[in-house]
Amino acid sequence: MSDSIKYVLDESRIPRQWYNLAADLPEPLPPVLHPGTLQPIGPADLAPLFPMALILQEVTTEREVEIPGPVRDVYRQWRPTPLYRARRLERALQTPARIYYKYEGVSPAGSHKPNTAVAQAFYNKEAGVRRLATETGAGQWGSSLAFAGALFGLDVTVFMVKVSYDQKPYRRALMETYGARCIPSPSTETESGRRILAASPDSNGSLGIAISEAVEVAASRDDTKYSLGSVLNHVLLHQTVIGQEAIAQLEMAGDYPDIVVGCTGGGSNFAGIAFPFLGAQLRGGRAARFVAVEPAACPSLTRGRYAYDFGDTGHLTPLVKMHTLGSTFIPPGFHAGGLRYHGMAPLVSHAHQLGLIEARAYPQTACFEAGVFFARHEGIVPAPEANHAVKGAIDEAVRCREEGASRAILFNLCGHGHFDMQAYMDFTAGRITDQAYDEGELAMALAGLPQV
Ligand SMILES: *Cc1c(COP(=O)(O)O)cnc(C)c1O
Repeated sequence: MSDSIKYVLDESRIPRQWYNLAADLPEPLPPVLHPGTLQPIGPADLAPLFPMALILQEVTTEREVEIPGPVRDVYRQWRPTPLYRARRLERALQTPARIYYKYEGVSPAGSHKPNTAVAQAFYNKEAGVRRLATETGAGQWGSSLAFAGALFGLDVTVFMVKVSYDQKPYRRALMETYGARCIPSPSTETESGRRILAASPDSNGSLGIAISEAVEVAASRDDTKYSLGSVLNHVLLHQTVIGQEAIAQLEMAGDYPDIVVGCTGGGSNFAGIAFPFLGAQLRGGRAARFVAVEPAACPSLTRGRYAYDFGDTGHLTPLVKMHTLGSTFIPPGFHAGGLRYHGMAPLVSHAHQLGLIEARAYPQTACFEAGVFFARHEGIVPAPEANHAVKGAIDEAVRCREEGASRAILFNLCGHGHFDMQAYMDFTAGRITDQAYDEGELAMALAGLPQV
């Protein structure tokens, strides 16, 4: 039998709680610091940016956080998402490994991001917020928040990293279709954007710059809050529906993963699939290896420093301890725009520091090769970001073949690539190259880390 197998849960199996890794960590997360006083910040410090319900989720160490009914109701449109066993891929690789993938591309925006966008829109609406300001890289987050904003009646303003704004007009069209306003960043609409443009008028932009612009807008208006699509604890929390469903689906398959793989930009989809399994391990359950895969051109986990840093380029955010390339580091413009962030989620960084997870970095051509190979055997065209997870999983499967080891590999196929076909056209035409980041620029960005 060579066909793929699909494991489907009915909607009563949508998780009722999000899982919080903080409850099971052997050491607590380092505190978030005020950049002026270097003292730990409290919930009130974040109140201009986020509704209190999300701030409390940011700091809670409760193991389970209940998913509100209206959020579960929206999840029902596409959750539980399918889990597949990639039998055709296994055969093509001639591997004894069992390869499973959780497919998050079935959401309306085409990625895992609506899992948190819907929750964030719900809590903001509850708190009486009228407008959300946010940033987006490749446009997946912007379109996810635009979708969620439309459902809950919130205006959404999206600062989109300029290189992606130019490369991916269809994502912008999707945001506008949902009713959001999309502005290329750096823009002239904010102080942060104007400062960057004055220094480098041709700036490609970066997530760090776009975050500064969105934070500035949210902080300066009473009716507006800020919304972030990754990195923060509450975002990772919301994504744990992925791993919880995968546990139930692998139970149906009578299996358990030896290796869990996810791509990492800010760390949320990796955390979403990995943390429920990691938590089970920390509570004395079966152990697994957890592999975070990042782009070689923006390698925060493998080349960054574990240090306190700002979340944005304009230094408007508090200081968080994370793996960082430096908040002024601007990665080259490669195709996986969703992975172009200078930092890594504090929870993922902390887990890496504690030796609970592994990290590796791949150049983009190798990832596109893996993505095309996957598409030809499994039919789904992955997002360029997801190709990093595909490549990580394929490499593990090849290793199983070489070692004659039959292991179960689970990876998160966090989004489809239907809005990224220009990237695939470029790949097919041989126009995709591996751009190295500038070592000098990285050294400078790291030298500029705040002294804590
Ligand atoms: C945003 C995005 C990513 C990167 O963000 P994480 O928070 O690391 O998950 C990866 N893949 C897809 C499809 C995305 O949309």
